[in-house]
Amino acid sequence: MEPSLRRRISFGEFCGAATGLTDRSALARTWTYFFAAGGTLSLLAVLLPHDRATYEPGVLACGALAYGVAVAALLLFDRIPLAVSQLLPAVGTLLISAAAVFEGSGMSVYPVAYAWVAVAAAQLLSRGWVAVHVALVGGGFAAVLLATRAPSAAVQWILVLGTVTMVAAVVLALRLRLEGLVGRLDEAARTDPLTGLLNRRGFDAALEVEIERARRSRTEVSLLIGDLDSFKEVNDRLGHGAGDAALERVSAVLMAAKRRVDVAARLGGEEFALIVPDSGEEAAHVLAERLREELRKTFAEEPVPLTVSFGVAGSPAGACTPAALLEAADRALYRAKEAGRDRSVVAPTTGPA
Ligand code: GH3
Ligand code: MG
Ligand code: MG
Repeated sequence: MEPSLRRRISFGEFCGAATGLTDRSALARTWTYFFAAGGTLSLLAVLLPHDRATYEPGVLACGALAYGVAVAALLLFDRIPLAVSQLLPAVGTLLISAAAVFEGSGMSVYPVAYAWVAVAAAQLLSRGWVAVHVALVGGGFAAVLLATRAPSAAVQWILVLGTVTMVAAVVLALRLRLEGLVGRLDEAARTDPLTGLLNRRGFDAALEVEIERARRSRTEVSLLIGDLDSFKEVNDRLGHGAGDAALERVSAVLMAAKRRVDVAARLGGEEFALIVPDSGEEAAHVLAERLREELRKTFAEEPVPLTVSFGVAGSPAGACTPAALLEAADRALYRAKEAGRDRSVVAPTTGPA
């Protein structure tokens, strides 16, 4: 659905957006705000008392072009090609430079607006493009100083370009730090701190992705849910610390035995899951039996030898919902427990939900 005008100019959504190139709406909103603000300021600069040398139609034309870019960004919104967004700060540099030339005094304050170019580029574009736009500002301002035969041109150039470079560097650093933080928080929210496996939240997201992938490529995907047998006994006899250590060892066995494409998770407590892409339930059953054997061997010499029960469910061509596959594997696990534990049970084939 096409976003409404209100949403297109929404500052709230702009603030909540993912940063940078990943979010086309954030790009479009930035161009709309910045160019509309630039156009408005050039209008005010002409309306307020100003230097007599100013060529007003020139400044107004720059303002009108800035408004034009703002409106185009608003209309095209998330359809603005990435390449255009990468170049738009240069349009800003061009308009600011032209307005500064039309201002004509040679000591114009218009170049303050180059800081906007630095902010927009550093907030949204890659490091390489930020460097390109800072360099273009350097070139643009040098041309302005030459065209207006500005006094103290070297000092003006150094101060303006130094400021623009600092602004770009600080904004870029803050943004990269924020992106790193968001990435780490996102990872922490999906990871089980004890075992380092995905937690339930990460598992839910991964299962959805794998089922969707299987549906699109018309391949199979299977799910194993394993629950340690009589695990309470480990805690009761050896203490909670030993229980935790056992859970870590179980996860190490899972990680070592699985293929790279399989996704291992701790669903909670002493319950683990393995998503097995490109595999039917027979192959998944073979894997479950292998894992059961590995775990038995790992804990054979322990004071409380651990075993595991598995429920296995398959989804041909990804033709079921994540919830249905999970429920099928859960039911099979329940049957494995009921049948005496330390075994794997395959669920009847799971069809479309
Ligand atoms: P069953 O064969 O029926 O699965 O028996 P069980 O004892 O494994 O099952 P139950 O659900 O009764 O007990 C699970 C135990 O797992 C109880 C709880 O103390 C323990 N547990 C859950 N999470 C953790 C954890 O993070 N660390 C430790 N050490 N123990 C945990
Ligand atoms: Mg258990
Ligand atoms: Mg359990």
